[in-house]
Amino acid sequence: MIIAPKIRGFICTTAHPAGCAAHVQEQIDHVKSSPLPDYLPKNVLVIGASTGYGLASRIVPAFSAGAATLGVFFEKAPSERKTASAGWYNSAAFEAAAVAEGIYARSINGDAFSDEVKQRAISEIKASMGPIDCVVYSLASPRRTDPKDGQVYRSCLKPIGQPYSQKNINTDKALVDEVVIDSASEEEIAATVKVMGGEDWELWIEALMEAGVLADEVTSIAYSYIGPELTWPIYRDGTIGMAKNHLEQSCARIRRKLESKGGRAFVSVNKAVVTQASSAIPVVPLYISILFKKMKEEGVHEDCIEQIQRMFTDHLGAETLCDEAGRIRIDDLEMREDIQAHVAASWDQITSENLRDLSDFEGYQDNFLKLFGFGLPGVDYDADYDPMRSVDLVQ
Ligand code: NAD
Repeated sequence: MIIAPKIRGFICTTAHPAGCAAHVQEQIDHVKSSPLPDYLPKNVLVIGASTGYGLASRIVPAFSAGAATLGVFFEKAPSERKTASAGWYNSAAFEAAAVAEGIYARSINGDAFSDEVKQRAISEIKASMGPIDCVVYSLASPRRTDPKDGQVYRSCLKPIGQPYSQKNINTDKALVDEVVIDSASEEEIAATVKVMGGEDWELWIEALMEAGVLADEVTSIAYSYIGPELTWPIYRDGTIGMAKNHLEQSCARIRRKLESKGGRAFVSVNKAVVTQASSAIPVVPLYISILFKKMKEEGVHEDCIEQIQRMFTDHLGAETLCDEAGRIRIDDLEMREDIQAHVAASWDQITSENLRDLSDFEGYQDNFLKLFGFGLPGVDYDADYDPMRSVDLVQ
């Protein structure tokens, strides 16, 4: 079939197998052309490994250090008539590239929140990998089924205390409008913490420790975001921010557990990038479009792969570089004073009419399409592709 993007708001319901493979290859090429990080884990478990920051966290150790990786994700397999989700094709491409270089790579496609997937991962580690020296937790999910009682929790992106109105972009129509979001109920706040907080990260670490599959000097990392004040009502001070606070509290508990064996745990605060998760957050796509313009002008623009490369290179050596709260900060360039001052000034002025002058909306859109394998150089988008390509690669 000829595979074209089908976009509905912040979701693209198709993905291109060859385009996703080209996107993964671009990231592999970047890693191979960069200096080797000091700290190179050799046996890595990535939870949320198929797209965005998790995929980059898998590519960096695998293609810098030949690390064995086990990737866990929740993606849709293809059928004769429907393409797979992008993360599925990304993972198939990652595995094919790793295997071609003799690098161990296995994947588990299933619900990371479940006990069953945790046990499958442990069996795989015991059977084929040996002790894990790095666990990256990079899940972004709209819902979670609690493994203890089967209750389903849904996360939401809402302010707390009062409604929030702010400029926003209608990405389908390229219009700057205003969004008004009602404040969250106590139940919604608790549910978001349950889904996006650190409870499941801690359950993973406990299960892995109990099974004896963690190396003594294991490092575990989960990702967070802070961003500028203009997004705080919807992010840092909103429901997702409460979940990220919980992630940090969980990190402190996980750190104490791992330190007893010589291990360590961190939250890394990353930069805003275009991913399936971030494009769903109101206000953020417009902020990212303005931010990208300035960061590209300053020559400091980064995507997931550059961020994660820098995290391993500059922050996870023998000594870990952290802020006063013990977090890794690779959002330093985004948060640079001159960059934020520029973004704030553009934010005040931006309208539908000057959108393309004051922001890199085109770059945002290109980036969004790329997440689904569209717009990659060298891919023939008019050619017939079998959506079932590489179907045996991801189990
Ligand atoms: P993403 O949407 O690209 O990736 C989410 C991953 O989670 C995918 O691999 C998906 O398959 C997996 N997943 C979702 N539900 C799952 C489930 N039930 N079981 C197994 N896997 C599941 O998201 P992302 O933007 O890379 O976010 C990853 C982390 O980085 C999140 O904690 C996010 O808050 C954080 N972060 C993102 C940004 C950003 O701008 N995107 C910035 C800073 C921090």
